[in-house]
Amino acid sequence: EQKQTINFGAGPAKLPQSVLLQAQKEFLSYSGMGISVLEMSHRSADFNKILTKTESLLRELLTIPDNYKVLFLQGGGSGQFSAVPLNLIGLKEDTCADYLVTGTWSEKAAKEAENTAKSTLSTRSWTVTRVKIPDPSSWTLNPSASYVYYCCNETVHGVEYNFTPETNGVTLVSDMSSNFLSRPVDVSKFGLIFAGAQKNVGCAGVTVVIVREDLLGHALNDCPIVLDYKVQADMNSLYNTPPCFSIYIMGLVLEWIKNNGGSAAMEALNKQKSSMIYDIINASNGFYECPVDETCRSRMNVPFHIGSKEGDEGLEKEFLAGASKRGMISLKGHRSVGGIRASLYNAVTLEDAEALGTYMKVFMKEH
Ligand code: PMP
Repeated sequence: EQKQTINFGAGPAKLPQSVLLQAQKEFLSYSGMGISVLEMSHRSADFNKILTKTESLLRELLTIPDNYKVLFLQGGGSGQFSAVPLNLIGLKEDTCADYLVTGTWSEKAAKEAENTAKSTLSTRSWTVTRVKIPDPSSWTLNPSASYVYYCCNETVHGVEYNFTPETNGVTLVSDMSSNFLSRPVDVSKFGLIFAGAQKNVGCAGVTVVIVREDLLGHALNDCPIVLDYKVQADMNSLYNTPPCFSIYIMGLVLEWIKNNGGSAAMEALNKQKSSMIYDIINASNGFYECPVDETCRSRMNVPFHIGSKEGDEGLEKEFLAGASKRGMISLKGHRSVGGIRASLYNAVTLEDAEALGTYMKVFMKEH
């Protein structure tokens, strides 16, 4: 294997080397056809094979029940911030939704929901905390809400739910953009799950939506047609041209996940990688500081400061420069929170995480 830069980016993120090599091999002529996937009609039998294979791998890896549709859409996670309220707010007369706000991404979703259907919708967002998920016994969910929305892994703040919220029968919607297929999930507990591919399952351009069939057909009249789940479900995600190449890459990544033991194996590996880094932080006597409560530390995105709780800017700069010298890139924290963030998605290997751990120990000793 060729020696590579170690990419700890939050997304777009590292892809498995074998996937990149396979895509390279097939790039000019897919399956002996003499044309690239990039040049293929989305309505051709050959692309249909790619689409069908990708969907069935997803269904297999997540044991998606038959009464759920799988859609491959454009517009990213952000597009879903609008699509979710446009399609689901009309499920109940009260047209109200509950948003659990635990970081940047759920907050953006809540704001967009308010913007999206101002005349129709009332959202209640609450629990504004970025370091701890309040105990569910303290939540006051509205039983007549059309849905409850949460972000399963807050990419910026490194806050991850390690439980599925209980909503007492209200439809549950989750943004799993940054922990999709990083662990097993019981899809039957959800009305809808969405995830951009560019972290754990592929490259940018395609967003997966897994939606229970009975939730289709409730879109508001002014819902743009490309965002209407029923239209896309009826057309097998081919109402308009889908992101063909991104779907192809996702298929390759899903095959890689399957060959490497599926979601349970990904979970075991992700636990191992992240706890190794958190252990170093915990044992550093405050040299490294992770602001997130131990009960909800993300296995995907590990944020920390160096030198003090707020972070010593000079030390953090030095840390990043040293990391870069060792071939480790994209460790800078999100611009809104600063500090360091190590993203440890599926394709980041144990050796990659060990290289970071070793560097963290050396850096601490030297300072
Ligand atoms: N949700 C989460 C959890 C994210 O991490 C991101 C992007 N980092 C988004 C939504 C937005 O995705 P996109 O940029 O594809 O619109």
